[in-house]
Amino acid sequence: MANFPESSTTTCDHCDRAIPTPNFELHYAHCVRNLERCSICGDMVPKRHAEEHYASTHAPVACSLCSEKVERDVLTLHKDEKCPQRIVICEYCEFPLPAVDLLKHQELCGNRTEYCENCRKYVRLRERSSHEIQCCSASNGLDTDAAESSREGRVPAREQGARRGQGQDASKRRLIVTIAITGIAVVIGSFILQRRNQNQPPQ
Ligand SMILES: [Zn+2]
Ligand SMILES: [Zn+2]
Ligand SMILES: [Zn+2]
Ligand SMILES: [Zn+2]
Ligand SMILES: [Zn+2]
Repeated sequence: MANFPESSTTTCDHCDRAIPTPNFELHYAHCVRNLERCSICGDMVPKRHAEEHYASTHAPVACSLCSEKVERDVLTLHKDEKCPQRIVICEYCEFPLPAVDLLKHQELCGNRTEYCENCRKYVRLRERSSHEIQCCSASNGLDTDAAESSREGRVPAREQGARRGQGQDASKRRLIVTIAITGIAVVIGSFILQRRNQNQPPQ
């Protein structure tokens, strides 16, 4: 077997590598006896290290936050977006807390009220953004103001601090009015946004 040119190679059908032909027989015997192809990554791995290779490269790992076993390639995704123990921020109070507690927390937190200086009403935090659209449009001179005051009148200043002490009836009526106004606000809000978008020249 002596006449092969120096540069000639033969492909090993076990590992698919091109082996210099003079070394081929030696390589092939060694390759078949000692190496196997990892069924996951396709690398050739020493047979006696196959388990080690799987454990250190492919085995699911425990999430350091919730200790659930997670596939390696989705671990980052899990920690950033799925892990129940990842830290998220409450959109109402901006307090950081584990994601698993967020829903319960926001149910309470969003029900808290905040005093709106603009219209002098207490607004639920969960309704704050739609309320702000309405409040802004009212103070910009659109005619929601008239419609609103004919419906319920202005809230006298002395009532502002006494919200918790009001009777059932008054607060029920106020709730209904609030819901109605919120509905109007959403409609007006989207109308304004639409108009704004139409009027704006392309940037
Ligand atoms: Zn080989
Ligand atoms: Zn592998
Ligand atoms: Zn986790
Ligand atoms: Zn909160
Ligand atoms: Zn307001």
